Amino acid sequence: MKPDQPAFAPPADADARRRKPAVICYPTTSLAHPNLDVMQARRDAATHRDTCIVPARDARCTTVPAGSFFRITCPDGSQVGDLNLWAADDLNEHFYSGKTRALHGTHLSTGDRLWSRFPKMRPMATITEDTLDWYGWDADGGSVHDVIGTRCDPYTGRLLSGTDYHYCCHSNLTRALADHMQMSLTEAEPFVHDVLNVFMCTGFTADTHQYFMKASPVRAGDYIEFMAEIDLIVGLSACPGGDCGDEHTSDKATCHPLVIDVFENDMSFARAEPNAYDQSHGR
Ligand SMILES: [Zn+2]
Repeated sequence: MKPDQPAFAPPADADARRRKPAVICYPTTSLAHPNLDVMQARRDAATHRDTCIVPARDARCTTVPAGSFFRITCPDGSQVGDLNLWAADDLNEHFYSGKTRALHGTHLSTGDRLWSRFPKMRPMATITEDTLDWYGWDADGGSVHDVIGTRCDPYTGRLLSGTDYHYCCHSNLTRALADHMQMSLTEAEPFVHDVLNVFMCTGFTADTHQYFMKASPVRAGDYIEFMAEIDLIVGLSACPGGDCGDEHTSDKATCHPLVIDVFENDMSFARAEPNAYDQSHGR
């Protein structure tokens, strides 16, 4: 955080420096935008293949072939989910929340893509429907589906409170990936990564710019749907924070399950291509 009392006096032209225009770091005008009409046609031709129930305070993984759709539904009470994505053929290629944030902003909705880490850096999934898109921005500057948080984890809990809690999203996703891949927890844990906070309502405070959360506006029946751009393993944790209106590293919050439904079709599909950079890095 910035100090209340800076140690250094502002220079004479401080105000002029502060008045420089803000420039978008990564304008996306040159990006090929997803054709949502084509995706809708694929969705219309898709049939329901699988339902994966994610129990409260736990996580599950499921596979989603490229060109298929997965829908995350809040079926019961208000509940936040922490989403991880891996390429089905290489767990090292996983969702890159920081670059997704740099490209699409702090909170995602329909038409935004979830990008994978370097070096492949390609769309892993595109959001095709979001029943909470009406929320927009609230008076606190908050919104839903952020890519600014990391995931609740036992290490930060240990650091801040000195206690161990084993059902944070990080641990839930570690167990779920280990079970799905028939790996040990030690093998699985390094593949768990920063998330898309599904249904979570977050922002930065106006004064200190600290990350805040508030009770999610999600209600039973709300959903967010994605089209897989490559073959995916989808991991989802039903956060121990429940609606994340208060606390999320304990058993205090009321928690509910989440559901992942997968819809497949037999239409041909061109998978997203890996990034074309040659990785020579100047040598
Ligand atoms: Zn969590």
